[in-house]
Amino acid sequence: MGVALISAQRSKDPKTQVGACIVNPKNRIVGVGYNGMPDIDIKHNDAMFSWEKEKHYTRDKHLYVCHAEMNAIVNKMGADIQGCTLYTTKYPCNECSKLIIQSGIKKVVFLEDKEPNRNIYAASRILLQTANIVIEKHTPKGDLSDLYEADTKLNTLL
Ligand SMILES: [Zn+2]
Repeated sequence: MGVALISAQRSKDPKTQVGACIVNPKNRIVGVGYNGMPDIDIKHNDAMFSWEKEKHYTRDKHLYVCHAEMNAIVNKMGADIQGCTLYTTKYPCNECSKLIIQSGIKKVVFLEDKEPNRNIYAASRILLQTANIVIEKHTPKGDLSDLYEADTKLNTLL
């Protein structure tokens, strides 16, 4: 979960930073991701896509952003992720849960579930439960503020 939290810090979304980390049954990291716009090789890629939430389809980030879970699955560098565990800082949405199921991930550990009643998270629960994926809320072993502090120090060094 620490790696997922640090990964989240790389997101350029001004409002919601989410990180995800996939580990294999031996707890080795096989994929990491954070929420970001599609990695299209064009000039001014970041300016092309808006982080706004306006109604017009050209200015609604939800229509374009790639979620952290999706990016962690796609970034797996060819590793087999059947039977893996995905750590995510936010409860996965229904679209990510479909990817989680289809990729063979068997366990999801999340840090926060802020909007359990929204349709996308309610549907996500149905998807994950039906697929018999183990869902666990992360219980920090230590004080997470230490990790945030460490990350802030790291950012000042980079
Ligand atoms: Zn998602």
